[in-house]
Amino acid sequence: ASQANFSKNAQSDISANTYFLKGLDSRILNAEQREELVSFVNQDPFGQSFLVYNSHEALRKLNAWRSKLSWIQPFYALKSNPIDPLVEDLCSNGAGLDVASQGEIKKGLEMGISASNMIYSNPVKEEKDILYAAQNNVLYTTADTFDEIVKIHTLAPNMKILWRISITEDNSQQLSTVFSNKFGDDITSLEDAHQKFKFIAQELGVRLHGIHFHCGSGKNGSSSFLKAVNMARKCIEIGRQYGHAMEILDLGGGYPSGDLNEKFIANLKDTCNDPLGYRVIAEPGRHFSSQTCYLFTRILAKRSKQGKTCFHVNDSLYHSFNCVLMDGVSFENDNDQFYQVVNNNTLEQSEINKNSMINSSIFGMTCDGADVIARNVGFCGDAKVGDWLCFSGMGSYTFGPKSAFNGMESTTRVFKWSSPVGAPESPKKAAETSEEPSLIWKPKLEPAF
Ligand code: PLP
Repeated sequence: ASQANFSKNAQSDISANTYFLKGLDSRILNAEQREELVSFVNQDPFGQSFLVYNSHEALRKLNAWRSKLSWIQPFYALKSNPIDPLVEDLCSNGAGLDVASQGEIKKGLEMGISASNMIYSNPVKEEKDILYAAQNNVLYTTADTFDEIVKIHTLAPNMKILWRISITEDNSQQLSTVFSNKFGDDITSLEDAHQKFKFIAQELGVRLHGIHFHCGSGKNGSSSFLKAVNMARKCIEIGRQYGHAMEILDLGGGYPSGDLNEKFIANLKDTCNDPLGYRVIAEPGRHFSSQTCYLFTRILAKRSKQGKTCFHVNDSLYHSFNCVLMDGVSFENDNDQFYQVVNNNTLEQSEINKNSMINSSIFGMTCDGADVIARNVGFCGDAKVGDWLCFSGMGSYTFGPKSAFNGMESTTRVFKWSSPVGAPESPKKAAETSEEPSLIWKPKLEPAF
């Protein structure tokens, strides 16, 4: 097997092609949209990998949330993607912010988001971070151990604590991230709940302000939400018997990357106008971020190894493809991942001939042998050094966790774009989606805090 041919023009912007690949978003872009995206590539043909953020998609999701779950105020989980334009779009239209650390609180404050619109939702916190939160007037936080309650109460007695309960995820759902093994108090029975809430009130002298859970990050929304909601409502009722205020129910994150489906919404309906009376908030991350971003990465090398064609790209598992390691994203063994190629010069689309697909691996740019983004994927054999790969659905747990391993940087640029994606279902819908969503969050309830 010889080395793959190296084209002399491979690194020229004139000859570079852009391959559009399906990541966690299978919606196909039309020719005009691909052309617009390729115009970003042309700004810097030798550049590092970068993100294109689609503002329209984030606002569409927020709008849909408002119309379907109007009684639940979303606090966007900053950790899922902290890029400024996304945070601005969500928080200037009524979403609050879920922050996990001093760094995230600081970022929110620097962006002009009020501390009263943040929830410090990390059940295990560093002491310095608690002090910083309190000094900056972040009022609400979570805990799931007695030690944490004592820690918060000692350092920041005015902070209000929501008790995080754990919910065993429904095994029938293929969850990308399970939380119950690590977080949340395992309430084993209603009697157990009585004992714990009594102990917290009478022995620790602390009054709780609500219940929080995170059902795990499901790919399509998990039925565990129904179980969790029922348990949380019981906990609110029991807690109040011991003097806990329990004025907030925080439904956490874990909402689907795609649109909210009816079954999922039905699982949450008992929290609407509940006679118990509490404010309902949630911490969606991927739901708002996942399908709003396209990741562009460039082919740095092409070789033949052990009968397979291998492409090295200028990103890695230590960078924006961290989602493969930590978030269960997979590009393996799916020949349908790769579907379109656009020639930058003519911008003519040519559908990839399935026969030209070759069994390929895609390697990250670091020196780590384990840095393999995808194995055994069918990919276009014509792709060459200098061509760009554009992965859709790369907005969650990509930009946030990237490291500086090997002294390498990636995804240093973020471009803002606005385009309605997805084939409209009807002419009426087409008319709706062709416009910029106009959006001002009008929750039925007053803001939670
Ligand atoms: N809230 C908390 C406390 C989390 O830990 C996370 C994710 O780790 C989220 C919300 C967001 O989860 P998702 O992106 O699945 O919605």
